[in-house]
Amino acid sequence: MSGSYCSVCKKKPSFFYRKYSGQKLCKKCFSESIEAKVRATITKYSMLKFDDKLAIAVSGGKDSLSLLHILAKLQKYRPKTSLTAITIDEGIKGYRDEALDIAEKNCNALQIPLYITSFKELFGLTLDELIIKLQAKGKTELTPCAYCGVLRRRAINVAARNIGATKIATAHTLDDETQTVLMNILRGDTDRLSKEKPITNYVHSMFIRKIKPFCEIPENESALYAYIKKITFQDTPCPYASEALRNDIRTMLNNIEEKHTGTKFAISRTMEKLQPAIEQVLTKKDFKTCKDCGEPTSQILCKTCEMLHQIR
Ligand code: SF4
Ligand code: ZN
Repeated sequence: MSGSYCSVCKKKPSFFYRKYSGQKLCKKCFSESIEAKVRATITKYSMLKFDDKLAIAVSGGKDSLSLLHILAKLQKYRPKTSLTAITIDEGIKGYRDEALDIAEKNCNALQIPLYITSFKELFGLTLDELIIKLQAKGKTELTPCAYCGVLRRRAINVAARNIGATKIATAHTLDDETQTVLMNILRGDTDRLSKEKPITNYVHSMFIRKIKPFCEIPENESALYAYIKKITFQDTPCPYASEALRNDIRTMLNNIEEKHTGTKFAISRTMEKLQPAIEQVLTKKDFKTCKDCGEPTSQILCKTCEMLHQIR
């Protein structure tokens, strides 16, 4: 794009070509467009009330740190909305320690309080220990990410409750969201398909509602924002990152997007229209109390306890 000027300010040289909108943007206008998009998404889906106590799940990766920086900036427009970062230490040797350090440094620089809790503290063992035990018992049907995902969701919810949060922000991008839609369809998981929304429904007082202010931001733009703002983030991949189906879907979606610009947005818009119909056809589950941990669940044992039982 050298030699051409930013389509917005018309003054600075363009630095990024946004194929789906046809805009050429300079660094400043690009960053401002991401911040404006986050503000618009929060308003569009009524994600925040003026006095919400917002928790943000920070992993130390580019997406969560870009979101942290933007939400910290937005606080000046929402003085009554408090912001606290939550980081979960899953216990992945040589990987999570670096992420914790990065999360801490970013929070200190932005003066955002950081609440850290761990799998060890909450479930009695680290993810590394859990994987070793599962392997020793020959239970290898599910990937480490399947266990990690369930336990981390629980950990984030418990942490948010502990700090009195009324909403949890996660940095799921447009890419994460569209991959999850296709994954749920391919797995036939209509229940999860109905729950994946920019703001989750209120279902139980013990479940803190989640919001996804990045749900309309493509992943490459979240990375670019981090790069322009010189945000330090962790880019070493997790040693367990092997969720085969998601990887296949990511590659497929990126290939289709490359040839047919706007496919990811089209999936997101389709889901937005279908969501009310999907919710209507699914039978609402009644909540019971998990007999082991006391958390709400539709089964006798919640998914977290069911997984922990496999190794006990
Ligand atoms: Fe957990 Fe998988 Fe993410 Fe690693 S890649 S942190 S195991 S979900
Ligand atoms: Zn339980």
